[in-house]
Parts: sequence; structure tokens; C-alpha cells
Amino acid sequence: MRYRQDRKFLSKLKTLMAIPLLLAAAVLSAWAVYSVPPPVVDRMLEADLRKQSDTWRRAVLLHLSSSEDAFVLGDLNMHDEEYLSLLPQTSDVYRLKLFQADGTIFWSTRLENIGERNNKPYFRTVVAEGLTYYKHEAIPANEVDRLRVAVKADGSIPLREVAEVYTPIMHDGYFVGAIEFYSDITDVRNTFITRVRISLALISVVMISAMTIVMVVIMRTNRRSLRQVEERSAKDQEIMATQLQLAREVKLLGELNEWLQSCRSLDELFNMVSEFMSHLLPDSEGSIYVFSNSRDVLDGWASWNGGSHKDHIQPGECWGLRRGRTYEFGASEVEFTCEHAEPHDGRPYFCFPILAHGETVGLMHLRARPSRAGDFSACKKLAQMCAEQISMAIANVKMRDQLHDQSVRDPLTGLFNRRHMTDSLRKFVAASQNSGAPLSVVSIDVDHFKKFNDNHGHDAGDMVLRAVGTALEQACDGDEVACRPGGEEFALLLPRVAPHDAITKAELLRQTVEDIVVRYGEKALPRITISLGIAHYPMHGTLPQELLRASDEALYEAKAKGRNQLCIAAGNSALPRDPAAQPEQSSPEAKPADSNAPRQEDKLAAEEARKKGAA
Ligand code: GH3
Ligand code: MG
Ligand code: MG
Repeated sequence: MRYRQDRKFLSKLKTLMAIPLLLAAAVLSAWAVYSVPPPVVDRMLEADLRKQSDTWRRAVLLHLSSSEDAFVLGDLNMHDEEYLSLLPQTSDVYRLKLFQADGTIFWSTRLENIGERNNKPYFRTVVAEGLTYYKHEAIPANEVDRLRVAVKADGSIPLREVAEVYTPIMHDGYFVGAIEFYSDITDVRNTFITRVRISLALISVVMISAMTIVMVVIMRTNRRSLRQVEERSAKDQEIMATQLQLAREVKLLGELNEWLQSCRSLDELFNMVSEFMSHLLPDSEGSIYVFSNSRDVLDGWASWNGGSHKDHIQPGECWGLRRGRTYEFGASEVEFTCEHAEPHDGRPYFCFPILAHGETVGLMHLRARPSRAGDFSACKKLAQMCAEQISMAIANVKMRDQLHDQSVRDPLTGLFNRRHMTDSLRKFVAASQNSGAPLSVVSIDVDHFKKFNDNHGHDAGDMVLRAVGTALEQACDGDEVACRPGGEEFALLLPRVAPHDAITKAELLRQTVEDIVVRYGEKALPRITISLGIAHYPMHGTLPQELLRASDEALYEAKAKGRNQLCIAAGNSALPRDPAAQPEQSSPEAKPADSNAPRQEDKLAAEEARKKGAA
């Protein structure tokens, strides 16, 4: 911008400099037109008159009866004098004088001059040396013979330009005399001067015009070449900026890739994506959706640059997902808005299906930011590259999640396995040791499970295990953990749950399982019951294995007491002994009759007695 202003200023400066140059040329021309012609014309006339006087001299000598007698003796006959008197009438000479060698005038058209002597130095030094002497001067008009003088209005007498030419007369190489011719050259001189002036003026006009044209052409050429240089440099700058932008994008893409590789969760991944996308594609707002595990909906995960995302969208709401390729809105004459992009204000947008290992895992939606819609399609390639990198990263994280899940989950029920159970318990115990928060462990075993297998088959047994697993999972809140350590054994880890609440939860679970009806084929399987043993931190142990052992022992006790019941681990001195303080559901009335299981009341009484004995 600054450069352009400078250029305009320079251009104006050049124009301003050209004007005085042209003015100077005009002034110079005017001076030349006025001053040059007179001396030039005078020189021309001098040359002309010198030649002319030579002709006149020869004519005089030719007509004189004896030129030698005439100039040496000053002797002229009547015929000679008549010829000389007529000469002014037949030539441009208006007066002439004949001199002897000593400068004495022996004949003149003005009689009063006869006998006078020319003592001027030029006569001796020039004329007497055999050279023609030329003299030009302006004299009053009345001094010109035979001229009718018109006096000016102010009374002055006008001047006339007069040329006097002295031509020497030589005889046998000796100077014998001279003739002086007077010519009035005023008219001829003025005519010539005027002609020369007109010619010069014309030449000046032509020259100044040519100069102006040349200057205009030079200035235009300069301006054009300057513009070309400017355009080239602007183009170079543009190319440079594009290359820099490209290098920056490549660097950012590389960094994004590096960061995405080290992501451990989708949350972390999309935080990074949002951050990078706002730098990589600052002119577009965006959002990302990922297919849920059920694959019937896509969950909104992240948005950036002022974009927003919905919690869930259906795959059918996006033309990109439906057609299996990038959908660009705003590039065609006829187009349809994706439902998930509603409300839509007409801004162009892209929908990039995110593919990994040949499977669509999500959707990246990019929309031009307000007032940046102009060259939105220019970012398509870069956005596509981002989408590809993001898809690989999502696939990696998902695969890692899947592998992790496989290593910590039981494939039959989807509950956590023994390994995860012991890891989690270790963490919960450590947390409770630090914070003093309560923690309960519930060991669960399906009663007479073998019978399901034996009577209805292994598949029916699996169905029972799945049903119990679902009940356990639904019983968990927050960071509570439901596990299947093996076979028909289950466990619940209840961090930050008070012992009473843990007992209530365990008893509720027992009841829930008791109420489950599992249909196998056309018939319903027999009622499922579970036995539970509960241990609390720190009353029944301060180490994970102590708590597990205590809850397992309580479970054996529940089995021993007739199954389908909850037993609290031994040594629970801190727990209230009042049965009324126990959860309502544990009352025998609330529990359906079971021939195998002892009444909860008896069980709690036995528990009480045992603890008293222990105390
Ligand atoms: P109790 O009330 O004393 O616990 O009796 P139970 O029959 O439940 O216990 P037992 O230990 O005698 O039998 C457990 C059976 O569970 C033995 C085993 O075949 C079966 N089982 C273990 N894992 C699975 C499994 O994944 N699927 C099925 N269907 N059965 C399993
Ligand atoms: Mg068992
Ligand atoms: Mg069992």
C-alpha cells in the first residue's frame, strides 16, 4: 500500500518535472525564433551582396571606356557618367561612389561627395589590400537616396537597413581604386527574417510536439514497465505467501498427527482436534460426530471456532453419510441441506464422512464462518487431509479402547473381569486410605447354578449369567464397579458408599435378581437367587485381599445359612446391631419364601450372636 502511494507520488513528480522542461523548451524556442534570424539573415545577405557587388563591379568596368584611365586619372567621359548615373535605376544599388587608390572620390551619384577622401582604416587595410569590405548599418530613411520618407506619427524618422560594399579595382595586380555600392536591404532583410522566423517557429512547434510525444511515450512506457514489475512482485509475494501458508499447514498437520498418535481417549483426541482445527482452518467453524457403539446414531463430540454440535444425529440426516462421500453444499446449482445442518442460513459447508479401515466411524462438518464464505471451497483439500488424519486417530483410539475393554471385560456379561476388579479395588483402597472415605466389597454367587446347566443346558446357564450381570450393572452408580471374576461368581465394588447404603444396595440387588424372569425357548427358567457376602473398609480389612477374603467368607456363610441371602463379614463391630437399622428390604416379610434360604431375621440374629461371641 505504502509502495503504491510512493509510486503515485513519483509518477506525479515526473509529470510535474516534464511540464517545466517543456516550458523551458518553449521559451528557448521563442528566444531562438526572435533572436536567431537577424544575424543569420545578415550573414546570408552579406554573402549575397558581396557576390552581387562583384557582378556590379564587373558591369561597371565593362561599360567604362577605359577603367584604367578612369581610376588612375579620375577621367570619365560622358558616356561613362551616363552609364554610372543609370546604374541605380537598373539595379538594387541606390548610390555608388568611385574612389581612386588614395581614397579620393572622383565620381558619385551624390555630386557633393566628389572630391572627398575616405580616410577610414578599413580602406587602407582591407580595400587597398584587394579585399571586398562589407558594412551593414541602420540609418535614418532620409539618408537613403531616392526614397520617399514617411515620418512616423511621433515625428521620428524610421530607420532603414543599408549595406555598403567596397569592391577593390585591381590592374595588373595593383590596387588602382574602388567602387562603393549602397543597397537598401531593409525589405529583403525583413522578408527573410520573417521567413526564417516562421520556419524556426514551425520547427520549434514540431520539436516541442515531438518532445512532448516522446516524453509521454517514455512516461507511459515507464509506467507500464513499473506496473509490470509491480504485478510481478505482487505475484511473487502471493506465491511466497501461499508457500509459507502451505509450509505452516504441513507443519501443523504433522504436529496434529503426532499429537493424535499419543491420544488415550476420544475426549482428549477431540480437544486436540478442536485446538488444531481452529489454527489450520480459521475461516470455518466445525463439529465432529462419532458413531455410537450401537451404530444407529452419531454422538456429537466436539465443535470449534464458534461452531456447535447436537448431542445425537441420525446417519440419514447427512447427505455425506448417505452418499458415502464428501458432500459440499454451496458448489452446485441444485443442492439440498443436510438435516443435521439445520437451522441453515445458506452458508456453504462440507460434510466429510470419517472412514477408518473401510468403515465409516463418524462425520466432520465444516461450515464457512460468517463473512468468510467467499473462498470457502479453497480449504476443501486441507479439510479432507485433516479428516483423514482424524479418522485414523479415532480408529486408533477405538481400537485401543477395544483392546483395553477386551483385556478388562468379561465377554459373556460385559462386566469387568477379575484383573480389573483387583486393580480397581487396589485403587479404591488406596483412595480410602488417603481420604478415609468408606468402601464396601460385595461377593456374589448364583445359587445352585449347576442345576441350570444340568437341567436346561449350557446356553440357558449363559443366559442366567447375562441376566445377573445386567442386574449388577444396573445396580451400579457413578464409579461403582460390577465384576464377574469367574464362573457364576460376581462382585460389586462400592467406593464412597456408607456401610448401611452398601447393605441396602446389596439387598436390593438380591431382590432384583430374585424377580428376574429368564425365558429360554418357550419356557421360563426357574427362579434365580444369589447369595451375597459384604465386607466394609476398614472394619473387615484395610487391604484389598483382606476385604475380598472377608466378603468371600461372608458369602460362604450365606451359602451355609441356606443361600438367597446377604451376610456381613465377621468383625463388623462398627455396624449397628439393631435389625431395625438394617434396610427394610432385608426383613423376612419383604422377601419371598425360599425353602433353601434362612430368614433374613434369623440370619441377622445369628450374625449378631457370632459377633458378640467374637467380642
Ligand atoms: P452353589 O449354590 O453352592 O454355588 O452351587 P452351584 O451349583 O452354583 O456351584 P458349583 O460350583 O457346584 O457349580 C458351578 C457351575 O457353574 C460349574 C460350572 O460348570 C458352571 N459354570 C462355570 N462357568 C460357566 C459359564 O461360563 N457358563 C455356564 N453355562 N456355566 C458355567
Ligand atoms: Mg460358585
Ligand atoms: Mg453357585
